[in-house]
Amino acid sequence: ASQILRRTLGSRYFANHRSFSSDSTPIRATLFPGDGIGPEIADSVKQIFQAADAQIEWEEHYVGTEVDPRTKSFLTWESLESVRRNKVGLKGPMATPIGKGHRSLNLTLRKELNLYANVRPCYSLNGYKTRYDNVDLITIRENTEGEYSGLEHQVVRGVVESIKIITRQASIRVAEYAFHYAKEHGRKRVSAIHKANIMQKTDGLFLKCCREVAEKYPEIVYEEVVIDNCCMMLVKNPGLFDVLVMPNLYGDIISDLCAGLIGGLGLTPSLNIGEGGIALAEAVHGSAPDIAGKNLANPTALLLSSVSMLRHLDLHDKADRIQNAILNTIAEGKYRTADLGGSSKTTEFTKAIIDHL
Ligand code: NAD
Repeated sequence: ASQILRRTLGSRYFANHRSFSSDSTPIRATLFPGDGIGPEIADSVKQIFQAADAQIEWEEHYVGTEVDPRTKSFLTWESLESVRRNKVGLKGPMATPIGKGHRSLNLTLRKELNLYANVRPCYSLNGYKTRYDNVDLITIRENTEGEYSGLEHQVVRGVVESIKIITRQASIRVAEYAFHYAKEHGRKRVSAIHKANIMQKTDGLFLKCCREVAEKYPEIVYEEVVIDNCCMMLVKNPGLFDVLVMPNLYGDIISDLCAGLIGGLGLTPSLNIGEGGIALAEAVHGSAPDIAGKNLANPTALLLSSVSMLRHLDLHDKADRIQNAILNTIAEGKYRTADLGGSSKTTEFTKAIIDHL
């Protein structure tokens, strides 16, 4: 029974009400295989989609080898145009070389495509034991500003400055999304996570916006939790939370903490929501250079992200089929990748999922 419940829970994370073609014409979606383990786990998605006859025609784009002056990054203009045209896509992890002076690929994508909210569900997986079996959290991360505004410079030798931007417009937009999401998905509580006791102006404005939006949703419990206390509460009892909304940097950190509660970064998907109906799915994790090219990566996080993309397209039958095959393979326990304590290679795990379709 709990397996059925889990599937049902899983199936409602990304339900979407836009209508895409419901006949069997393939839908074009942009695919960025990305860096590091990206191409290996993207291969897994492509194979499983093909085996499940998932109706998606991938338009593949790779990161360029030199800076494209139109994007000021290694991302090509054509790849951005592809997402704008298709309105949906799946993105593998992209590496950001530290301190190299050009624009981060992820920041470029988020800014150029105005991907303003990043939805990161995290739920306990049936059959995979961690300290908790009741994790069921949604982190909604503001995705365009905060500490990730890309505004850093040297003031004088030995002193650098990084500017945190919080705007009313972006804060209202992400808060609206969080409350709307909570209402649509039958969630009971939205917690705004902040450090407004110290960041009085920036996080103060973020909270003010959340409060304003909360007033429009009296049926949803609204609370404010300071981020350090939130970390402690999450580790002690994740069942205390439901939907969490927060500025950019906090969302980056808290969602990795949440991933740790259920078994790690190999498991947690996300969906970036953009202006104009754009949705770009991606795993929460990065390019994992330590295991890249070794056939060791767990493709689950990218696979569950691709399932979220199918749900966004209202292809729920295909999404259910693929999601159930993934969750049942993990629950059965015979084939698991090394991050989950198993010895299966990425390709063996992929084949096992195909056998469960
Ligand atoms: P990471 O998420 O790549 O790896 C952290 C740890 O988790 C590593 O031990 C890795 O082996 C493991 N891991 C991650 N994904 C896994 C998977 N699917 N299966 C099994 N193990 C997995 O974080 P990092 O090492 O801090 O970052 C590496 C690079 O990725 C950096 O350049 C960073 O900027 C980039 N990054 C990109 C994104 C993105 O594209 N959205 C997100 C985070 C980090």
